[in-house]
Amino acid sequence: MVKKLYIKTYGCQMNFADAERLKYIFEKNGWQITDNIDEALAIFAIGCSVRQHAENKIFSFIDGLKNIKKQGRVVGLLGCTANIYKKDILNQHPHINIICGTDYFDLLPEKIESALKGEKIILVEENQNPFVIKTNSKNSIYVDIPITKGCDNFCSYCVVPYARGKLKSRNSVEIINEIKNLSDSGVRHVNLLGQNVNEYGKDLNIKYDFAELLKEISKIDKLLRISFMTSHPKDTTKKILETMAENEKIMKHLHLPVQSGSNRILKLMNRKYSREEYLKIIEYARALIPDISITSDIMVGFPEETEKDFLETYEFVKEIQYDKIYIFKYSKRPFTRAAKLPNSISEKEKQRRHSLILNLQKKISRKISENYINKNVQILVEKINKNGYLEGKSLNNKTVYFSGDKNKIRSIIDVKIEQYSSGSYYAKL
Ligand code: SAH
Ligand code: SF4
Repeated sequence: MVKKLYIKTYGCQMNFADAERLKYIFEKNGWQITDNIDEALAIFAIGCSVRQHAENKIFSFIDGLKNIKKQGRVVGLLGCTANIYKKDILNQHPHINIICGTDYFDLLPEKIESALKGEKIILVEENQNPFVIKTNSKNSIYVDIPITKGCDNFCSYCVVPYARGKLKSRNSVEIINEIKNLSDSGVRHVNLLGQNVNEYGKDLNIKYDFAELLKEISKIDKLLRISFMTSHPKDTTKKILETMAENEKIMKHLHLPVQSGSNRILKLMNRKYSREEYLKIIEYARALIPDISITSDIMVGFPEETEKDFLETYEFVKEIQYDKIYIFKYSKRPFTRAAKLPNSISEKEKQRRHSLILNLQKKISRKISENYINKNVQILVEKINKNGYLEGKSLNNKTVYFSGDKNKIRSIIDVKIEQYSSGSYYAKL
């Protein structure tokens, strides 16, 4: 009988990219991936620990599987959460059979056999060869490609450096070869992933940086679009922005998390830029690429964030006019420096600040989207959705739906935006 694996993924795009790699490894070893948890012999949760809320969700999922061992099945907790808490997880969740950090996924098909026999498997230290696993494209048009792993920036609120270790850039030849192979199998858009892609190459001690990598990837013939995330403002150079402006395959979208508009809080966060420096990057990017879409992450309720600090963030969001933002309420994370700061902000106050920025951004996003009505944009057609509309993305990363022939999938076509409704654009050929 075929062994079946169920995977539940939480968190960021990096975790979803890890999940794709995990699927690939297990399928290569004769397993089948199932959507039906009841028929799975193994259940893996890839955990996110960036915020307390995300972590609570994983543990409540895991605790719902308490009787699984009696049924001869195994439960694995994988990813960031596994790397942070290691074997301590067993104190409160003794029914877990496998604890595995992201660097060890390739060992799991072998180790799972011992787990099925009752052994506890714990694989959590950092591996020297983190990119051994390839992506499974499965006829996709879009694929996420991790180009760095880990992070050395130690923003004071962030657990990622403890969960994913030091910055490690993947060898550029390996990246290019993987993308070439993917483009031969039909992939047309790659999204380069890293906690801070702008630092690509810094650890390799060679004169080759992120802008060079972008240029080289763009030479791959069949590839039509390149996007990337996340960019850290302290490393967003003019060279990167100029490369974006000059290269027609690179999407005109910059996700540039600012976190706060208060210089005092930015310093406490160890972000290494000021609001003035951040603004300069935005101004330069907009001057070079007038149609660029800019998105951001904002954090409210960081320890010691006063009403004045908060209002500075509020005004900054108003000033910048982001296309979209993700707003997070600060939560205390293990090992981080911010966890030791006094003056924590109450949940109620965090919620108030969150709602105020959310409402402000809703108005801004609506205004920006209305400006797109009657504009002509170029769409890379990705798929046909369940209502029969073609779906794709504009060069500046707006999702657009329109009627058309499905043989347009995988090509770039011109459409005119006619309507905007709840986050999506509707257009005609
Ligand atoms: N490497 C990326 C993203 C890291 S995590 C970057 O540097 O931008 C994604 C987002 O989660 C962060 O941008 C931040 O806004 C949020 N985040 C991280 N730690 C958090 C915490 N302790 N509490 C609340 N939000 C947090
Ligand atoms: Fe976390 Fe800062 Fe690294 Fe992003 S850059 S992963 S926020 S430490």
